[in-house]
Formats: sequence, C-alpha cells, structure tokens
Amino acid sequence: MPELPEVEAWVRELDPLVSRAPIDKAGPAHIATLKTFAPPLSSLDGRRFEGAKRRGKNLLFPLQGDDLVLRVHLMSAGRLRFLPAGAKAPKTPMFRVRFTGGDELVLTEGGKKKRAGVWLVTPEQLDEDLAHLGPDALELDAAGVGEILGRERRQLHPLLRDQRALTGIGRAHANEILLRARMSPFKASTDLSDEEIERLATAMHEDLTRALELRERGKGDSDVYVVHNRLGEPCPQCGTPIARVDFEEHTIYYCPSCQTGGRLLKDRRLSRLLR
Ligand SMILES: [Zn+2]
Repeated sequence: MPELPEVEAWVRELDPLVSRAPIDKAGPAHIATLKTFAPPLSSLDGRRFEGAKRRGKNLLFPLQGDDLVLRVHLMSAGRLRFLPAGAKAPKTPMFRVRFTGGDELVLTEGGKKKRAGVWLVTPEQLDEDLAHLGPDALELDAAGVGEILGRERRQLHPLLRDQRALTGIGRAHANEILLRARMSPFKASTDLSDEEIERLATAMHEDLTRALELRERGKGDSDVYVVHNRLGEPCPQCGTPIARVDFEEHTIYYCPSCQTGGRLLKDRRLSRLLR
C-alpha cells in the first residue's frame, strides 16, 4: 500500500498537470471502483480541476469553483497515471478522465480484488467522509506526537499505522520510523519519556522527508526502505541482521540490537497455536 511520501510525490507531480486543460469526459468507471452516484461523473465534463491535493493517503482533485472534489484512494494495488496525448493507454482502466487535447488521467489496479475507490463529492461531504482521519504525519511536531501517544496506552507500531490517530503511515514507514528512533514496535505509547517523544517525532519527520525526496526523484521501495522487507540484511545503523515478527495479520521488521535490547520478539499469530 502506498504511504504518505509516495502519495505526496504523486500529488506534487500531478498538481500542475491536471489543471492544464478542461475535462473533456470523465469516466467510465468500473462499478466496483466508483463509490458515489450523485452527482454523476458527467457533471465533470467541460469543467477544470484546480490541481491535486492530499489528505492522508487520499488523492484529491478539487474543481475550479470549489463546488466538487474528485477523491481517489488507491488501496494496495491501484495506480494513477497522467498520460500525455498520444501515449499508449490501457484499454479498460478502472477509471479515466480525458482532457481536452487528449491527455488522460488513468486509474488501473492489479490483482483480482478491486479495492481502489473513486468518489465525486461536495467539499462538505468530503470533510464528513474523512472526518475520522487524524492529523497528517508530515505536519506533526513533538507536541502533537506527544499528545497522540498520551491519549491511551497502545503499542507503537499499531498506533503509528492507525489513520484515526495520525494519517499517512502504514506498515513500511512504521518499521522505518521505529528503527530510526531505536524503539521496540511493541513499546507502550504512554511509557515514553519527553526525550523519547522528541526522538520519535524527529525520526518520523526525518524518515518521511527523506522518503518524499527519494520518491520525488522516482526512486522505488528498494531505495526508500532500509528495514522494511529486509529480513537478514544488515541493519544500516549497526550491522545486526534485520529480524521479523508476525503479529496478528501484520509482519513487522526490526533490528534486535537497535530496538529491543538484543531480544528477538515472539511470533504472536494465533495461527501458530492452531497449526
Ligand atoms: Zn541496528
């Protein structure tokens, strides 16, 4: 699933492109992809986007006049591309916006399960739909991080991934941030000292801005992630082989030396007990 830096890099790339020309025709959209029916997609025809924005992992395309917003969530396998006029386009995308002059914004999705979504809503409806999202992880300072950590006693890894607490971080960047902060994924949020809160906030900011800078240069996961999906490879901070622990439905990567005082974390999947 794309996380904040990747989505933000796309937004910055798409922002000047989608407002270049008016919309010639919006749609068709796959029945599983289009989540709203009124107003119809045809109400976009002849209109013009103001640009591209982001809220959490949602891509937003407000219309000039601010009466409607097109929202796209790619989930894990969706891809949104801007194709200049004449470029080879997929025959049956999940969703397409064609601009006057022939440029296209095209959503495709790999895999059998279609989970990506497109919504056409008013700004008021958008606020309502996304009201559950916490503050953006890229905007948080140490005071903001401290406030979120102190609300209730939770383990750091699931808390960082909880979009209601803060938005933009998923499994991969939770791994990256906790390695950088040298903290156990299972450490309790309410046990952090002021120094640790500061360290976590700094790690979050440094990791996300580094990743954003790499994503803007078109770099992929193998350049962005130093601990995520790197079982057995040396930790970039200390050289210890990266370890992995399966926790409920999630897999967590971490460095035993930097994060857990040398301890290997126990597999907590229920399925292990049932085998
Ligand atoms: Zn290490």
